[in-house]
Amino acid sequence: MKQKKTPLRMCVGCREMKPKRELIRVVRSPEGEVSLDDTGKKPGRGAYVCRSKECLTRAIRQRQLERQLQVALGEEVALSLQQMLAELPPAPPEEADT
Ligand SMILES: [Zn+2]
Repeated sequence: MKQKKTPLRMCVGCREMKPKRELIRVVRSPEGEVSLDDTGKKPGRGAYVCRSKECLTRAIRQRQLERQLQVALGEEVALSLQQMLAELPPAPPEEADT
């Protein structure tokens, strides 16, 4: 059995360590704009959150995102983040291990 090392990141909502690919990156651009980073490649300061509305909402409510990104999240930004999450395609299925 070979095991690949999966990079782990902490979700700022539930504070659990999860494989990076299961998480969504929230990024603050150098211009100070906060958005979801589906590709993981946007420049800027990032925080990770599960692909779940509960975790994102909790991260916003408990100001974990603000703390992590060192930015004040307006209500508008918080709403648009939740909107973006709702519009994301579901997470890719785990590769079957047969
Ligand atoms: Zn979570």
